[in-house]
Amino acid sequence: MEIINYTEINCNNVDFRKLGLVKQICKAIKDYFWNNRKEKDSSEMIIGDPCFFLIKVFEMYHTEWQERIGEDRLIGFRVKKAEGQNTLCFHIVLENIELKDSAISYSKLSKKLRVEADVKAACRTAIDKLKSKFKIKHCNGRCPVSTLELTLDNSVVHHYDKPMNKIIDEWVELNGGYQKVYKHVNPAIGGGTITSFIDNKMIEDFIDYHNAHTHMIVLHKQGHNMIHNKNQCLTKAEEERVKLYNKLC
Ligand SMILES: [Zn+2]
Repeated sequence: MEIINYTEINCNNVDFRKLGLVKQICKAIKDYFWNNRKEKDSSEMIIGDPCFFLIKVFEMYHTEWQERIGEDRLIGFRVKKAEGQNTLCFHIVLENIELKDSAISYSKLSKKLRVEADVKAACRTAIDKLKSKFKIKHCNGRCPVSTLELTLDNSVVHHYDKPMNKIIDEWVELNGGYQKVYKHVNPAIGGGTITSFIDNKMIEDFIDYHNAHTHMIVLHKQGHNMIHNKNQCLTKAEEERVKLYNKLC
């Protein structure tokens, strides 16, 4: 395999369809930041061009990217050893919140995952309107988990009873698997457009399945983070409230 030198990479001029190349660039970024670190256990924060490059790669090829980031703002990445392991890994750094498991690996990314990621994105797009209508209608009073006052800006829609990922997996299975469902997806390679289903029948079908198998609730971002384990220290009362809605979405 050809060795890529970090200083020669132009992140703005990469063919993202070439996954082998994309992975080599990830490795070059990782090695460069680790080798030039000033602290013993962690690299400097990766921001700017290499950060945008990594975001795009994970958006395209990592099926759980959306769940990991959620509504939070990503500041950058650091290269560190994964907890209890010897392998170097990128770690996600979010604004205000520390993820319980911040490590994210590029080594397992594949085209198959890309297909899955696109189908999942199309499913999420299918219920976007439903979600925003629900949010506007139910965004009043206090968050049942954090007890904070809800506003349109500070709140998010959370799924409980069945997590969103599970709903999607089940529905895809019923419709012949990821490869088959993917034929109905309009992929958004290179960003710009939104990944969605081409035909309305798929959209309506997914909405029906979604409505029949899960529930939505409007929560304050802080309450949502409590449920998704991003905040570690909860009082007994908070823990009890989290339990009511703690199926991940
Ligand atoms: Zn949620």
